Amino acid sequence: MSDCIFCKIAVGEIPSATVYEDEDFRVILDLNPASYGHALVIPKQHYENLMTIPEELAGKAMIVAKKVATVLKEVLPCDGYNILQNNGLCAGQTVFHFHIHLIPRRENDNVGLEWNHIALTDAMRDEILKKVEGKF
Ligand code: 5GP
Ligand code: ZN
Repeated sequence: MSDCIFCKIAVGEIPSATVYEDEDFRVILDLNPASYGHALVIPKQHYENLMTIPEELAGKAMIVAKKVATVLKEVLPCDGYNILQNNGLCAGQTVFHFHIHLIPRRENDNVGLEWNHIALTDAMRDEILKKVEGKF
């Protein structure tokens, strides 16, 4: 996609702070990190989100996430990690080129990823299970 910033970054057309690169992915430091060491796994091919990226590439993306987060956890260092991936405007996606966030976590780091929990009612559970029945 010619107007996609992550396409340009992923192929090296726009320079980035690259911590890892292979044939299919570039992993870069986020320009506005949630915490020290926040990185993004970006495929070199353009796919908008998790629903459109091919299964094989999605699988490879998680392997890259594991590889890079494991090394960064050693060298940064940090106490934990959030691996997350936003799909859609309402879910916080701002760049519509699939990417995985690698967010290092430390005690009392004030990174705000918490949400309000609702109760799973019996009716809700039954309705959802009925909706997915036979879909896979
Ligand atoms: P999203 O909100 O789509 O899940 O995540 C997009 C992320 O990309 C944000 O955390 C944002 O800070 C980061 N970002 C946006 N534009 C750039 C850029 O040009 N360079 C880098 N390194 N990160 C970017
Ligand atoms: Zn793109």
